[in-house]
Amino acid sequence: MGNAEKLTNDLKSLESEVQQRLAKAVEEKDLENISIEFLGKKGKLTNVLKALGTVSSEERGQIGKFANELKNSLEQSIETSRQHILEQYYNKLAETEWFDATILPARFPAGFHGGDVKGHIHPISAMQKRLEDIFSSMGFSIMDGPQVETDQNNFGMLNFTDDHPAREMQDTFYTEQDHLLRTHTSSVQIRGMKKLKPPMRMIAPGRVFRYEELDASHEHTFYQMEGMVIDHTVSVSNLLHLMHTLLEEIFQKHVEVRLRPGYFPFVEPGFELDMKCLICGGKGCPVCKYSGWSEVLPCGLVHPNVIKSGGLNPSQWQGAAFGLGLNRLVMMWYGIEDIRYFQNPDPDFLYQF
Ligand SMILES: [Zn+2]
Repeated sequence: MGNAEKLTNDLKSLESEVQQRLAKAVEEKDLENISIEFLGKKGKLTNVLKALGTVSSEERGQIGKFANELKNSLEQSIETSRQHILEQYYNKLAETEWFDATILPARFPAGFHGGDVKGHIHPISAMQKRLEDIFSSMGFSIMDGPQVETDQNNFGMLNFTDDHPAREMQDTFYTEQDHLLRTHTSSVQIRGMKKLKPPMRMIAPGRVFRYEELDASHEHTFYQMEGMVIDHTVSVSNLLHLMHTLLEEIFQKHVEVRLRPGYFPFVEPGFELDMKCLICGGKGCPVCKYSGWSEVLPCGLVHPNVIKSGGLNPSQWQGAAFGLGLNRLVMMWYGIEDIRYFQNPDPDFLYQF
């Protein structure tokens, strides 16, 4: 057998060797190995072609051409195998991958709620629902407003003038021209006054956003519930009575409250309402930062400019407004010390409720 004939035979047996190996390949990794072993720089094909130097130049041309075609055809075969393997993989996946929405995740504690829980309501949603029930029973309408608000509804019509320093009190995420992520549910006050005919009572629960440094009591995303009462006469004692009744209704026990002056451009006078800490009963604990009191809500009598923005005559109508912090109420209710837990999807936190 001449050198040329031997070389050609070697190339042909290389081809059948590759085909046999491809027939056994089960995953992409196998194909990679075959490719390196046979077609790589130091692979078997290169090795066989080292013998090209031993054949005549005419034969060399023919064998070289044959070797090139062989290389192309082997590459093609490997690619075909790859397609085949992927197809099988996806077919198998379609047969075996399914999911049962009723199966509990592995981390559910054994016996948790009898083991048949399919999910449950987030403590903030539960608090919101509770408040909605209480307020509805007191004749309040439930209003909704967009989370992306106009600067006018969030600030301008609430008596924050363009250069008002109080704008600085609330670090704001601005979106597009004249729009922002609402910094408080007070943005719904104007919508409420325009939609509901006075005398009226409304609440507006929802998500609000601040561009805050995060710590145990500050979050960039949290939940409030705005409340507003418009009537011919509304006084601070009406407001205080309403808040006191509300808090006792929420916590189902005797609650002590106090008012401190607070400044908010949309109310005059404005207050911070504190509640005696329910965790420690006023003795001082981490939840109330050892003050014995917990800041529950800002409130006040609606500023005449805001009444005017709502399309009402301030000489005929008066109002009271308050902003309940839902996160804070839940923290008081359960004795949670860090507001950041609410945005953290850690199931170990959520399973406790
Ligand atoms: Zn306390």
